[in-house]
Amino acid sequence: MAFKDIYGHEKQIRILRQAMSSNRIAHAYLFYGMEGIGKRSTALVFAKALNCREGRGEACGHCSSCLKADHGNHPDLRIIEPAGQSIRVQEIREIQQQMAFRPFEGGWRTFILVDAEKMNSTAANALLKTLEEPTPLNILILVSSRPYRFPLTVVSRCQPLRFNPLTRETVDLYLQERLSVPADTARLLAASSGGSIGRAIEMNDEDYLSVRNEMLEQVMGPQRQDPLRLFSIIHAFGQERKDILERLDILRACFRDALVFKETGMIHYLFNQDRAPEIQSFARAHSAADLLKNIRIVDRAYGAIDQNANKSLTLEAMMFRLTPKS
Ligand SMILES: [Zn+2]
Repeated sequence: MAFKDIYGHEKQIRILRQAMSSNRIAHAYLFYGMEGIGKRSTALVFAKALNCREGRGEACGHCSSCLKADHGNHPDLRIIEPAGQSIRVQEIREIQQQMAFRPFEGGWRTFILVDAEKMNSTAANALLKTLEEPTPLNILILVSSRPYRFPLTVVSRCQPLRFNPLTRETVDLYLQERLSVPADTARLLAASSGGSIGRAIEMNDEDYLSVRNEMLEQVMGPQRQDPLRLFSIIHAFGQERKDILERLDILRACFRDALVFKETGMIHYLFNQDRAPEIQSFARAHSAADLLKNIRIVDRAYGAIDQNANKSLTLEAMMFRLTPKS
């Protein structure tokens, strides 16, 4: 993989390439942004490009250094992932021991810490020492979707690089070009992915569309006036926190679509374009204030469940508050 193979993030890549061409490479970076958008891939390509024998600010993919990186056996490129729930201090000590020596191949040595916020506090303290006393030719790249979990002392010693969610078009393109997802499905998954390729792939795997169809029919379909029917979707949420959050996302997107349609009259802006008739009918039957209120209610339930609130109580309370009228 090379910079040219990364979908989106043109600005971030430009910054990294400029750093290389002007030889102003930071000793520590923090790549942060939502999950599944390409932070880790960009970090890997950056590490490859730094040592590429062609040396033109890109990873050529065929020199000996690029090949070693691709095969996962470049001695100066290490990827550290959490073992279980945390990155332990032992990992950081190993990094420090390696940093004491010059890179084996005479170029740059890069350590990529994936989900770096999972460092426990002893590990973070040990890392702080490394950040305070940088050594030449060693680069640390912390990759994280939860940068707010880092101690400020760590964050302030890294050069931050924020990765934005990808556009709907970029996710759509990726799904079609890389995974041969049919165009119709790709468009829908991209629209609901929130700009994350990883999320779109997950949804594709878990048959997201049939879950969404079920929810949408219960909440916005012709039977929606029946309050018992509305409550029956609580069962469709399942028991797993992750599934519940995903379904709340779907519900929020339905109300959001209805509000967008109400305000703009445009189908083009909907996440669930293929279900425009139900969304239009629901939008016509509700005021913008009610739709906005519903979005907030779902938001609140999402936050509560994300914070470990009682799942069934939260969902029931949410259902009571939603505006169910025709
Ligand atoms: Zn190369």
